[in-house]
Amino acid sequence: MIDLTGLKEIFGGEMLVEAKDVTRYGVDQIGDDHYRQNPAAVVFPTETSQIAQLMKWANRTGTPVTPRGGGSGLAGAAIPVAGGVVCSFKKMNRIIEIDTENLMVTVEPGVVTNTLDKELMAHGLFFAGYPMSEDICYIGGNVAENAGGGRAIKYGTTATYVLGAEIVSPTGEVLHFGGKRLKDVTGYNMLQLIVGSEGTLGLFTQLVIRVIPRPGARGVLLAAFPEIRQATQYVAALRRVSSEVPSSIEFIDGETARSTNVSMREGDRQTLSPETQAYLLVEFDGPDTDAVDRLLQAAAVLVGENGGAADTMGTQESTMEAAWKLRKQVPWWVKRNAGSCHSLEDVVVPPAAVPELVMFADHLRSSYKVPIAVFGHAGDGNFHLTPMKAPEMSQEAWEHMIPDLLSELYGEVVRLGGTISGEHGIGRKRVSSLSVALSDAERASMIAIKRALDPRNVLNPGVIFSESEVMAE
Ligand SMILES: Cc1cc2nc3c(=O)[nH]c(=O)nc-3n(C[C@H](O)[C@H](O)[C@H](O)COP(=O)(O)OP(=O)(O)OC[C@H]3O[C@@H](n4cnc5c(N)ncnc54)[C@H](O)[C@@H]3O)c2cc1C
Repeated sequence: MIDLTGLKEIFGGEMLVEAKDVTRYGVDQIGDDHYRQNPAAVVFPTETSQIAQLMKWANRTGTPVTPRGGGSGLAGAAIPVAGGVVCSFKKMNRIIEIDTENLMVTVEPGVVTNTLDKELMAHGLFFAGYPMSEDICYIGGNVAENAGGGRAIKYGTTATYVLGAEIVSPTGEVLHFGGKRLKDVTGYNMLQLIVGSEGTLGLFTQLVIRVIPRPGARGVLLAAFPEIRQATQYVAALRRVSSEVPSSIEFIDGETARSTNVSMREGDRQTLSPETQAYLLVEFDGPDTDAVDRLLQAAAVLVGENGGAADTMGTQESTMEAAWKLRKQVPWWVKRNAGSCHSLEDVVVPPAAVPELVMFADHLRSSYKVPIAVFGHAGDGNFHLTPMKAPEMSQEAWEHMIPDLLSELYGEVVRLGGTISGEHGIGRKRVSSLSVALSDAERASMIAIKRALDPRNVLNPGVIFSESEVMAE
């Protein structure tokens, strides 16, 4: 058990040590309770200087510290080392400035992403790099994961919008990289190295984020296809011929869509045909509803040409909300349906390889005899293939089988020119699979950076790389 005296001096009442309270911080949304590791304490800093002192204390005592945002991660990156300390950013949640002249905001990392969006709406502005968990995740977690989302095809991922940050280094120094400037080549691009490093290279304590004018109008089209092949062909055709880049192209396989739909409240349900094998949610935004309507009409004609039918279409808020609700509920349905026995994957392939990837799910289904939900961001090739335990399968058989299935899946995505995670990260979940995607030399160069910045390996150890890899001579 670690000696918490030094921590109490820094945090006093802003700290949890009671077992029943800390257990909430022992897991994230990974969905498999086997990963749970409870910390000895959780601290809730309110200012940067406390975090600098925390990391100095951690280096002195050799205690692991894990930063935590909203805990919505799907790869276990916010799961602490058992008996370590969690640094929750819950109380550092101020929007410090909305700078409407520079189109930049300065925020603390604990701001809930949706809260920022609501504030920006009042100024006609928009943070475009948000993930689809925006109502529960924090902006600091988005930056640390370089989250993507439904709109990455048009607007890019979170990293695109991070201009500057105040960061506490793993050794407890307060650093400032970037700032309120749109260009900066002063030295190494440390900012973007630490962005997406899953809390292993620094703790973000303040962020400068670029925002953009909010589009005047949006509209969605929910298209149903009798065959999966037609849906993937449609995605390729739409990307080629549309005069505007769609802001989203989301895929849900027919069975998953129907199962999710019936699990929703009656008033939220769509009318879905039992024949449909694939749904696509296509969204456009633009200056006004006329412009968006024209784009939707053209996209709907293309749906027909590819053998599908436009189920729902429109620019009204209620239409959009209903279509998005179905898509956003899919991961929650998976969790409810399969409990611990599912593996929500996050593979990404070049857009042209999407048909091959989606067909590969069929091969996995028949080889391993398990259901696989297929959904995700079809526009940018990032798919959440999610194997689930078959009802007749024992827990032991599932646990024995899933590593083989994932190894085959990861091998295939790399063969297709893709990689094993597009947005959820390596976390704790994919540490042992990193060598499928990166060579020994590539991993060694990353480990060298980790060792240089965190010589005692106290900041989020066990995430991305195993503790033994980082500490090996
Ligand atoms: C229903 C659902 C939908 C999702 N949809 C998407 C999606 O569309 N796109 C997507 O990319 N992800 C998605 N996710 C995954 C997750 O929401 C994102 O990764 C999100 O960015 C995590 O933010 P968080 O605040 O919850 O971070 P956490 O889960 O708390 O932490 C994630 C990582 O960030 C680190 N971290 C947190 N705060 C800081 C900080 N201040 N400084 C340094 N490191 C920090 C943690 O140590 C950890 O490594 C989804 C999750 C769910 C449950």
